[in-house]
Amino acid sequence: MTENLSTIDSLPENAKQIWERVAEAARQSGRRPEDIQVLAVTKTVPWERVNLAVEQGFSVLGENRVQEFLDKSPHYPPGCPIHFIGRLQTNKVKYIAGKVAMIQSVDSLRLAKEIDRQAEKHGRVMDILIEVNIGREESKGGVLPEDLDDFLQAVSVMRHLHVRGLMAIPPQNAHSGAENEYFLQMRKLFVDIRSKKIDNIDMDYLSMGMSGDFESAILCGANMVRIGSALFGGRK
Ligand SMILES: *Cc1c(COP(=O)(O)O)cnc(C)c1O
Repeated sequence: MTENLSTIDSLPENAKQIWERVAEAARQSGRRPEDIQVLAVTKTVPWERVNLAVEQGFSVLGENRVQEFLDKSPHYPPGCPIHFIGRLQTNKVKYIAGKVAMIQSVDSLRLAKEIDRQAEKHGRVMDILIEVNIGREESKGGVLPEDLDDFLQAVSVMRHLHVRGLMAIPPQNAHSGAENEYFLQMRKLFVDIRSKKIDNIDMDYLSMGMSGDFESAILCGANMVRIGSALFGGRK
């Protein structure tokens, strides 16, 4: 079954092209290809195809939906870190707190407190990214840039959380390449916060860029990109 899939599937070719494009954008921005962490975003993709992507080197997976994650993840190869990247309801944190390596979509103190509480139950510290609503879009989650300082201060005292960076899903109607204003604003926030050296807050990851704009994101400073449709094909 898997063999069939891989011969008829464009996934291996897609994967190859993505690695080449990531490497080129990394070089253009003065970094090495391995400095860029690439997540395979698996929403709506059957686990068999996710496993094909893992074979092509996409060993870190991004999941959007709690139920889908719980159904599929037992079938993934052991040892693939999974990042939760979707909207997360507070009452569902308990289902994933023992299972994911990182939660990228933390955008309210209520959610942060619940992750802290559940992480404590599991005897762990959860790596999180703070999602920033850089385009100030009502339809999207995320902390507004002007609220970020207060937010980080509040999270820095939660002992079972470790802030590792920022995440954003900017508007599509932006300039391309190294000129994307939203990616550049994110980069500035990232650098500014890093220079403040807040206790328990590390700016290791700047997670931005998806299938349509990952090269631009890398050129603007992203070191983590989240790719779905360019790898797996379009979603219904
Ligand atoms: C779906 C999704 C992606 C990937 O989107 P593509 O355009 O398919 O690459 C990245 N990040 C988040 C948060 C998503 O929900």
